[in-house]
Amino acid sequence: MTGLNDQQFDLEHIWHPYTSMTHPLPTFKVKKAYGAIIELEDGRQLIDGMSSWWCAIHGYNHPELNQAVVDQLQNMSHIMFGGFTHDPAIQLGKLLLGITPPSLDKIFYADSGSVAVEVALKMAVQFWSAQGQIQKTNFVTPRSGYHGDTWNAMSVCDPVTGMHQIFGSSLPNRIFVPAPQVGFYDEWNQSDILELEKTLVEHHATVAGLILEPIVQGAGGMRFYHPEYLRQAKLLCEKYNILLIFDEIATGFGRTGKLFAWEHAQVEPDIMCIGKGLTGGYMTLSATLTSKHVAETISHGEAGVFMHGPTFMANPLACAVAVKSTQLLISQDWQSNIQRIEQHLKQVLTPLQTLEYVRDVRVLGAIGVVELNFNIDMKTLQQAFVKRGVWIRPFGKLVYVMPPYIITEQQLKTLLEQLVEVIYEMQEQVV
Ligand code: PMP
Repeated sequence: MTGLNDQQFDLEHIWHPYTSMTHPLPTFKVKKAYGAIIELEDGRQLIDGMSSWWCAIHGYNHPELNQAVVDQLQNMSHIMFGGFTHDPAIQLGKLLLGITPPSLDKIFYADSGSVAVEVALKMAVQFWSAQGQIQKTNFVTPRSGYHGDTWNAMSVCDPVTGMHQIFGSSLPNRIFVPAPQVGFYDEWNQSDILELEKTLVEHHATVAGLILEPIVQGAGGMRFYHPEYLRQAKLLCEKYNILLIFDEIATGFGRTGKLFAWEHAQVEPDIMCIGKGLTGGYMTLSATLTSKHVAETISHGEAGVFMHGPTFMANPLACAVAVKSTQLLISQDWQSNIQRIEQHLKQVLTPLQTLEYVRDVRVLGAIGVVELNFNIDMKTLQQAFVKRGVWIRPFGKLVYVMPPYIITEQQLKTLLEQLVEVIYEMQEQVV
């Protein structure tokens, strides 16, 4: 190990997300981050377009969030949740029940989005087995979805863009329906729900739940679909005795223009997962919420208990900062702020639609997506953005931004100008 500088050590020994250890993608060493700025070790400042994968909604190094962590640290950073409870968990619970669907009443805290999804799937299976329906263990899910990287979460990710090719038959075999096709702003067409209905008619006896990301399919393609799809899906779930699970891990806490995406359709799920923006991006924490009915049914079953209990369940530091982050969000006129970002995104990105190598431009809330006709080279594009002083991490055919909500007009202007210029520069490579 001697002789390696820090950057070389990182390259040689530390695995980064979705990379090879022999041909790793380059990384940039960050010294600090504040507001919407990420400062690299060499002093370069980048305007953040990613909110650290949807979570840093209030930006970095926020004085009030910092203070919440410091205050909690004086009491305890962690204590086991088995046999103990504490103020941060209780306060956060009270806040969450006030802002999530009214029919959701019970909260299970977990340590990451993927684990919240695992918990949701386990709840659904236990709900049916508690009623003697032990054959209802499978899940239906639309294609182009993304729900995390743990085993069962992976199994309900899109089978093509997800990791099914690598893990093959070791993954549980889920039932996929076509991704919703009618866009968020399009006119509803009933044909969009027919395959789901056919599938539920055929498989309902073995299906525990339908899991989906409401309105925005995130990492599986950044697609925005019609709220009516959710209303129809809810009716079908009721008709065919299937639990409806919303994964709001990416869509929660204002990102789509509503506090949670279910509000676009006013459809309440039986189980809902939240994470990412929950702590304002300070720490990893997630929660799976469910109704009294689901919780009581599980509790009246033969097992009598819900079988999950992570070591860091309801971590007090994470809960304390989540309380502050949520209070900070809902105490402001956050809707106007998201509308400000949405209008700016629409105004600057929409003209890209005229380029022949741009397949689609779409904006919803504080999410702006440019879909190209070809797969981008992440390494080259990433470097081009850093050179221009912005942090945008594209994938597949998608160049997208979802900035922290505190981004200033000037920062947003610069971020988007750089994005647009890089897209225009591609013309030379395409032609
Ligand atoms: N569900 C959705 C919709 C997500 O976007 C993500 C993360 N990108 C997850 C689940 C998994 O969350 P985590 O990475 O915290 O495990």
